[in-house]
Amino acid sequence: HRQATHQPLPAVAGEGCYIIDADGKRYLDASGGAAVSCLGHSDADVRAAMHAQLDRLAYTHSGFFTSEAAESLAAKLVEGAPGDLNRVYLVSGGSEAMEAALKMVRQYFLEIGEPQRRHIIARRQSYHGNTLGALAAGGNMWRREPFAPLLFESHHIAPCYTYRDRPDDESEEEYGLRVADELEAKIEELGGDTVIAFVAEPVVGATLGAVPPTPGYFKRIREICDRYGVLLILDEVMCGMGRTGTRYACEQDGIAADILACAKGLGAGYQPIGATIAGEKIYQAIHDGSGFFQHGYTYMGHPTACAAALAVQEAIEEEGLLERVVVMGERLNDALHERFGNHHHVGDIRGRGLFRGMEFVADRATKQVFDPGLKLNGRIKAEALQRGLVCYPMGGTIDGKQGDHLLLAPPFIFEDSHVEELVDKLGEAIDAAIASTRE
Ligand code: PLP
Repeated sequence: HRQATHQPLPAVAGEGCYIIDADGKRYLDASGGAAVSCLGHSDADVRAAMHAQLDRLAYTHSGFFTSEAAESLAAKLVEGAPGDLNRVYLVSGGSEAMEAALKMVRQYFLEIGEPQRRHIIARRQSYHGNTLGALAAGGNMWRREPFAPLLFESHHIAPCYTYRDRPDDESEEEYGLRVADELEAKIEELGGDTVIAFVAEPVVGATLGAVPPTPGYFKRIREICDRYGVLLILDEVMCGMGRTGTRYACEQDGIAADILACAKGLGAGYQPIGATIAGEKIYQAIHDGSGFFQHGYTYMGHPTACAAALAVQEAIEEEGLLERVVVMGERLNDALHERFGNHHHVGDIRGRGLFRGMEFVADRATKQVFDPGLKLNGRIKAEALQRGLVCYPMGGTIDGKQGDHLLLAPPFIFEDSHVEELVDKLGEAIDAAIASTRE
């Protein structure tokens, strides 16, 4: 198991927004696991699509065959995708999607005769996956630390994190542009023609707790990338696929990536799947150059996974779930503000769509954090589970060590009664967890 000293609960069934354990206890899944289960746990159409695919052909190796499911999924993903993102490389998860993205950008520069480009820049307090390449690019300090000797050298600029980092005398826009300009300074420091790519999560997920960018931030980032010929990789593994109310999170920031990674909500947990979506110029450089992307995984383009993901994306479209994410996202936000807006230990409530975060503080006025030794986030998780609620608390919000936050990413089929249940159980769990730190 993930933890050598802790036995996870045995889950035996799923029903809509609930997971049921071996004792029949029901858990409201308010974080979709880790922002995965966007259709809940028992979608009939997705299951039927998977069964149909299994009955025809479960798997083929992508070195020999493609499948209708893979082709249709790719076509669906590029429909209306921002910019010229129109080539899809199907993998089995978020880390794989990011690894592929990192190698693809390096190969792009080899193909176009710029082999001197070797640097990757990302942001502190962002996570891009746990495999060594994705971990090396990422700025999640506690995850990186033990493996630092194995990681390639990467460079990090500040996150766009208004709650903690914006001074009172600076507007949101001014602050955002100032921190975006750190990218230009870093590119200049490294040498403009030595940088391959800048990597960022449009809405920072688990590491910061649903932190959206300020208005104009990503437009400035895009301008800087273009000025230096640096590619922009957007990691939408967590925030993409409708989670914030648009299929691609970056649509709301009015920009497009050169490469975009998605996973999690892509298959909604019905199958492991991810995708690296590239713009035409990257595809063409490889097509006209060496002719193949020097990468590959045994399970890429897995037909059953593709059939599941295609059914998920069709359901989102046909059932108008993006609109629902916007409406229910606002209701959830209102309910969180109503219940926790004046809570002594909730410093910030933030997010977009059905992707919401809360940051916990020992003192609201000074924003002082709880002693990390108290492991407040772990206590909240345990108290919530005890009350039949799955949410996603994390620690190390500020620097990998200090700070506690919580992520909410409920299924898109969430209803008003679920919002009520969530807020009630969460309120009790937070209060019990904080009380337990004083015992
Ligand atoms: N990128 C982001 C933004 C993520 O949130 C995650 C997982 O939480 C990953 C990458 C890695 O995805 P996976 O766990 O599917 O490998």
